[in-house]
This record gives sequence, C-alpha cells and structure tokens, in this order.
Amino acid sequence: MKIKKCPECGNLMKQVEVAVEDAENKIQSLQCPKCGYFEFDKKTGMNVVKELEEKEQALKIKQKIVKLSHKRLGMYFNKHIVESLGLKPGEDISVSVPSKKKIIIEVG
Ligand SMILES: [Zn+2]
Repeated sequence: MKIKKCPECGNLMKQVEVAVEDAENKIQSLQCPKCGYFEFDKKTGMNVVKELEEKEQALKIKQKIVKLSHKRLGMYFNKHIVESLGLKPGEDISVSVPSKKKIIIEVG
C-alpha cells in the first residue's frame, strides 16, 4: 500500500494494520495523524472478507430444530462440534441473535 497525502488536510498519512475479529488477515489502512481521516485498502479488505466467508462455509452444518416441551425448542451438537470445542453437559453458553437469520452461540 502506497503512502499518500490526506485528501482532507494534505498531511502525510500513516499506514496502520487493522485487526478484524475472527480473521487472521489484517486490513491495511491509511490514517491521517492530523485530522483522523481514515481509508481502508480494498485488496487487504477483500482478503479478510474472503477469509471469513471461507471459515463460515467450513463450519456450516445443517441441523434440524427439535421439539422439547411446551414452547421450547432445541438443537443437538453433533460429535464433531462437541469434540472440536470440548463441550461438556452443564456448560454455560451465551446465545445472541444479531439478525433474524443468525444465532451466535458462544462457549463460556
Ligand atoms: Zn488529514
């Protein structure tokens, strides 16, 4: 990535690496130390998007929701998930719902 001048104030920009959660690749970006103008590098940005997409594909497992009792539903963790995460019965998990099509389960 080439260092260039800030389009806002003309100051020389500084190259910084931005870490993205769950991604090993970092996004290169240019930051203006004077006015705070910020610009992401498209190529390294795309690498991170690609990496996260590939990870999501690799981990995608089709499961059916099962009926428990009353209005409660459940799902099973199959052997692969249990073994790779070292899950045990009684363990605490946190569930968050960032959108209507996503459920994120965090161990601990
Ligand atoms: Zn600037």
